[in-house]
Order: sequence, then C-alpha cells, then structure tokens
Amino acid sequence: MNATPKTLRHLSELRQAGLAPDQHAALAKVAAQYAVAITPAMAALIDRADPHDPIARQLVPDPAELEVAPGETADPIGDDAHSPAPGVVHRYPDRVLLKLTPVCAVYCRFCFRREMVGPSGHPLTAKQLDAALDYITRHPEIWEVILSGGDPLVLSARRLRQVIARLAAIEHVKVLRIHTRVPVADPARITPELARALKARGKAVYVVLHANHARELTPEARAACARLVDSGIPMLSQSVLLNGVNDEPQALAALMRALVECRIKPYYLHHGDLAPGTSHLRTSIEHGQGLMRGLRGRLSGLCQPSYVLDIPGGHGKSPVGPNYLSRDEGGRIRIADYRGAWHCYPPTT
Ligand code: SF4
Repeated sequence: MNATPKTLRHLSELRQAGLAPDQHAALAKVAAQYAVAITPAMAALIDRADPHDPIARQLVPDPAELEVAPGETADPIGDDAHSPAPGVVHRYPDRVLLKLTPVCAVYCRFCFRREMVGPSGHPLTAKQLDAALDYITRHPEIWEVILSGGDPLVLSARRLRQVIARLAAIEHVKVLRIHTRVPVADPARITPELARALKARGKAVYVVLHANHARELTPEARAACARLVDSGIPMLSQSVLLNGVNDEPQALAALMRALVECRIKPYYLHHGDLAPGTSHLRTSIEHGQGLMRGLRGRLSGLCQPSYVLDIPGGHGKSPVGPNYLSRDEGGRIRIADYRGAWHCYPPTT
C-alpha cells in the first residue's frame, strides 16, 4: 500500500521525489539557511522533466540563493521599524498586521520575510497575543487588522475562531483581512469548519490568496476557494512578479483570468522585494510596467491588479505604474489608451 504523501522538508526527501540532485553542497547550504517545505499538492504540480518549471522555481531551493545582491536586507520592507509589540506591525495609520505564527504551508524561495519564517519559529504566546490585542484596542484609528505571517491558515479552526472572536469584539475594528497561500498549497485544509471559523460577527472578513501561476489553481484549489466564497467570504489575490514564473504576458494573463474565474479579484502584483538571495527571481520595474500595459490592453478590467512596490525601509507600498498621463509641450494633458495610442484631453478640435 502506498504511504500518504507528506510535505517535503529535507534535501533527502527532495532527492527522493526527483526534485534535487544527488550531491550538491551549495543546496545543502541553502536548505540550512532558509526553510524548505513543499506540500504534496504543490509537489504534484512540478514537471520533473522541465528544468524551468514555474512551480519548482518558487519552492525548490536554488544555489543562487547564496548570492546576496547589493541592497538586499533581512527586513526588506522594514517590519521591525514599525513593530510596537511582538507580532504587530503598524505601518499605516488605519491598519495593522498581526503575525500569529511564523509557520507556512510552503516556503517560497522569494519570501520577503524569509529570515523570520520557518518551522522552528514560535507562534505568539498567550501573553504576546494579549499585548497585541491590547495595542489594537488602545488605538481607535485601527480600522482593519491583517492576519499575515507566516500563514494564519496553518492554525487550527479552533485557534482561528478564538482569535477572530477577540478581534471582532474590538468595536473600532471593522475589517479583518487574512493573507494565505493555503488554498493552493494545501486545499484540503480549507474545510467548511475552517471557513466558518473565519467569520467575524458584524465585521467584514476578506481572504487574500497568494498565488503566482495559473497552474496553482488546480480543481482542488478552486474547490477550496469556492468553499470560502460560498460561505460568504469575499476573496482577493496577491501575486509576486517573478522572473521565470509569471513574467511573460501569457503566463500573467492566464493567472489573472484563472483568479477571476474563481471569483477572486486580483488585488496586488508585488514587485519582488529585496530579500537576501532573491535577485535571480526579480525582474526590472520597467519589465513589470510593460507587462501591466499588456494586461490593460488585453484583459477585462476585472483582471487588473495594482502593481506595487514596498519601499525599502518601511515606507509602505506605492503603485509603480505604468503611467497613462503626460503633458505635451503646450501643457495640455495627454492620455494613453489601452492600445498605447495617445490622445489629448480634452480633445482638440
Ligand atoms: S507563504 Fe508568504 S510568508 Fe510564507 S514563505 Fe511564502 S511568501 Fe513567505
């Protein structure tokens, strides 16, 4: 009888699964430095015969991760500078991040928190959670709480229900947003019980799916998302623009369309953050802008995410284009249409 497939966490398991070569000292170094986890659902998607497989590229360690490029830092988006209590990041006035656990279902090779996440980290203790909730309670300007991570949906339905009930009891918190990769990485975890646990009485709850390639939206992943949406939870998406994964027009368009077909509104396309050892996965901003122009030219407005860059140092996200407005020499506004042709506004007669 075949054993139930398990999450691959060690190089020996990756080798057995045909995802790593026999001897590779550099890979051992990478795996010792950054967490590895590939769930059975994700491992099943990898085409072993394709050396450029876009799922493998996201999850299988690569010796290129040992090369730290200029500007790359352990905390590329400046979480630490805005952390008033363990697990809390208060960067923008009206919202906070609440990081309940450093554990994820899979560990992405481009992760912006790769120095913080991993299976050996500890979830917030009861005392730390009390302090985090106390901070949120004492700040009436906080309108939205974003459960991020690590991946909050690796926690049990019971634990999530407790935390969400406590957040829902804070009068000024109106919106809860849950960032997760679990519906694609481990779809079976999204049970009806878990979907019910995410509901917060009297509050709006959104789930934001992290997915980077259309192939991640398997029938099982689509069914997991449908369980959330059918239970009344609206879904958004975030994707990271990744060299060799989704940085071709067709691949990006297929991803955005697949998301919308699953009733998930594309929300963010992140420019890759300056996390250590990730330069081989980043594109240029100009390339990203060109891809966004292509999306605007070809796909429904429903399929358009906002292309954003987290400014290093903790200064927050900014949209990075492309720009559709300019002024001509006479100072009149010109606007580009979806095919790239320019028009005066208001039209000249
Ligand atoms: S799921 Fe998110 S937090 Fe976890 S490793 Fe991937 S990018 Fe990082």
